[in-house]
Amino acid sequence: MEASIREGREDCLFCRIIEKKIPSKIVYEDTRAIAFEDVNPQAPVHLLVIPVKHIASLSAIQPKDDAILTHLFSVVSRLAREKGIVERGYRTVINSGRGAGQTVFHLHVHLLSGRPFQWPPG
Ligand code: 5GP
Ligand code: ZN
Repeated sequence: MEASIREGREDCLFCRIIEKKIPSKIVYEDTRAIAFEDVNPQAPVHLLVIPVKHIASLSAIQPKDDAILTHLFSVVSRLAREKGIVERGYRTVINSGRGAGQTVFHLHVHLLSGRPFQWPPG
């Protein structure tokens, strides 16, 4: 099945990565968040930081998820420091909805660095 038509928890690619049913290069893991290398990197550093809880997109966030989101960005910040990309700069991207390019419907923050970035983004 194409990733683009995966939407539910039951057949979620990233839930399978969390469960280690699909292999990935995990660079950080705790009970609330994991981070792994994007299989199709768009920059020399391209990590995906995701909540362990299945949340389909930013649009599905509920007030009770506030602590999860705070933690997610704390992990992003920590990884940027660990990867040594704070000085150089890095871009974080969350695609929300198909029209914005979201293809996997489990919330994820792209963490990109190691090349110049344009603004506005394409
Ligand atoms: P989106 O397009 O939803 O914002 O981002 C989905 C990202 O997941 C893409 O950058 C894509 O390369 C990545 N991706 C898709 N399938 C896999 C996979 O099986 N393993 C890993 N590590 N990344 C994946
Ligand atoms: Zn999921």
